[in-house]
Amino acid sequence: MRYLIIGSGIAGTTAAEELRKLDATAEIVLIGEEHEPLYSRVLLPHYAKGIVALEKIFLKKETWYLDKNIEWLRGVRCEEIDTTNRHVVVSDGREIPFDKLLITTGAEIHTLPHEGENVCYFQTLGDTEHLIAKIASCSGRGIAYGGSFIASELIDLFVHRGMRTVAAFRGPWMFSRILDAESGALVTAHLKRVGVDVRPGSETLESVGATAEDIVAVGVGIAPELGWFRDAGIATGRGVLANARLETNVAGVYAAGDIAEFDDVVVGRRVMAGNWPSAQMQGRVAARNMAGGAEEFRNVSAYATNLAGLDIIAIGDTDRVAADSTVIVGSVVAGGVTQLFVRSGKLVGATLVGRNRDRKAVTDAINAGLAVDDVKLQ
Ligand SMILES: Cc1cc2nc3c(=O)[nH]c(=O)nc-3n(C[C@H](O)[C@H](O)[C@H](O)COP(=O)(O)OP(=O)(O)OC[C@H]3O[C@@H](n4cnc5c(N)ncnc54)[C@H](O)[C@@H]3O)c2cc1C
Repeated sequence: MRYLIIGSGIAGTTAAEELRKLDATAEIVLIGEEHEPLYSRVLLPHYAKGIVALEKIFLKKETWYLDKNIEWLRGVRCEEIDTTNRHVVVSDGREIPFDKLLITTGAEIHTLPHEGENVCYFQTLGDTEHLIAKIASCSGRGIAYGGSFIASELIDLFVHRGMRTVAAFRGPWMFSRILDAESGALVTAHLKRVGVDVRPGSETLESVGATAEDIVAVGVGIAPELGWFRDAGIATGRGVLANARLETNVAGVYAAGDIAEFDDVVVGRRVMAGNWPSAQMQGRVAARNMAGGAEEFRNVSAYATNLAGLDIIAIGDTDRVAADSTVIVGSVVAGGVTQLFVRSGKLVGATLVGRNRDRKAVTDAINAGLAVDDVKLQ
């Protein structure tokens, strides 16, 4: 059996490792555009702050791939998939055959046309090195442009570095796609308290008025390139579509991690997870299914961050548009707000701002499919 995995992040590398456990003799090929062995993106902000040393962020050694007999094609971009003749075409023109294929190409970030020396992103180790160098030589402000988790990491980084920090975003408050007005007000109040210049309604990056002395760091969501999957007959939506077993519409072709838009059996809807633990678990489940299993992926996903001292957690399905209704517990005055997302009477998701204490109760309730009325929060 010849397994081919496109993307050597946490989902792809975990899948390769699991496949090797399941089959000692299979050929396993792992194609990755990046050059480094697997590293933790979750630790990148800690590395940028100087809290974690560079060597600590690596999760695999250079020798690991050879030791596990995994053929690792590093610095190689996969450009075409031929699902009929079962091969992929990579950036150096080679055709690489497969019996079973796993797509784990992750979340390509949305970039803005406004380019310039001082514009940074925060996705890869290379981006992080660039950001660190820019911060070291910056005499101006740290401007974080964007309203979600990566922008939050950037604000946190600038504040930690003692920089004059601007939080500029399009919406009325940070995380406005998932947070209600009360939760949003709590985040805004907290940012102002720690000295951040908060600029809601910043429709364009230009409107922020950055000068040559400033760093402009952009975190405005993801925009994966999907055309080449569609050209291969693989169905796409916002990501690569997959069923609960993480198989796509093409037999023997699977998707896992940030790129997968999968049938989530916990929340009863097709979603994209976009977090590290889910990507790792999906890599494992996809591998087992590639090796002949029929396991459904099941996990209550969560993304937790700390924004300059304020804990913010998104659990389960937090799409406000897909919810029938929401219930708010707590307030700005009380210093914590939890928002519960309800669909067909059941709790399917929650956002917790300054209320970490609800995390377990909410996670258990989503997992058990509890009615929202049965969820008791203090
Ligand atoms: C700064 C930062 C902080 C984060 N913090 C957290 C956190 O605290 N908690 C949390 O849960 N999550 C966090 N995340 C998100 C988490 O890192 C992702 O959910 C996770 O990395 C997804 O794993 P993946 O393997 O699906 O994709 P990725 O990690 O994106 O890996 C995909 C890989 O595929 C490669 N690739 C893409 N296209 C091709 C191609 N055509 N050919 C070959 N290779 C290709 C890419 O170069 C990349 O190496 C953070 C992310 C970032 C950037």
